[in-house]
Amino acid sequence: MLNVKQRQMNLRFLGYYGGAIDGIVGNGTISAYEQFQRDYGLTVDGIYGPKTDAKLIEVIKAEQVKLGVNADGIAGTITTNARDNQNLSWNDIKYFKKSEFACKCGCGFDSINLKLVKILDEIREYFGQPVTVTSGCRCANHNSKQKGSSPNSRHISGKASDIKVKNVDKSRVLAKCKEYVSNGRARYTYTNNTNMGNAVHIDIQ
Ligand SMILES: [Zn+2]
Ligand SMILES: [Zn+2]
Repeated sequence: MLNVKQRQMNLRFLGYYGGAIDGIVGNGTISAYEQFQRDYGLTVDGIYGPKTDAKLIEVIKAEQVKLGVNADGIAGTITTNARDNQNLSWNDIKYFKKSEFACKCGCGFDSINLKLVKILDEIREYFGQPVTVTSGCRCANHNSKQKGSSPNSRHISGKASDIKVKNVDKSRVLAKCKEYVSNGRARYTYTNNTNMGNAVHIDIQ
């Protein structure tokens, strides 16, 4: 059976769960089990048994087939980004290419979210100067080696980038990124002298 975090990821992907992926079976998780069971004709008892498990995996696999990603029955980073990216393609991106966002350890992980890249594209356009991605996607292993990084970093889910803009002070880059947080397109931005040099971090929900 799927573990609790995997169940939460799948139920969140399907819109039944809005809480944290914490592996804890609290009220929100139980309520998600119940709503899923109701919608798929299962016994509504809030207990995650083999039938609920089989149905949840089946539903996610079908979604993955539609999205053209590996159908493993777990809605992880690649699956969620594939859905987010549906309305955007690299043809909508003027200044960046996928390889610029690949994990720096060489593992090949490059599932960057195009909504984020679109924001970076606009920032690049705004300043009219080259933008360097100092860190984009990070596998969990590479992320753990970064000074001051969080194990929940959005870099791991392809939803964060650290950037430098040529000839532009980072305070101005940060101010521009904050506009995206204010208008809701980005979740969070910050910069940190100790660990990030002159780069600015920006991530999306
Ligand atoms: Zn890596
Ligand atoms: Zn960052």
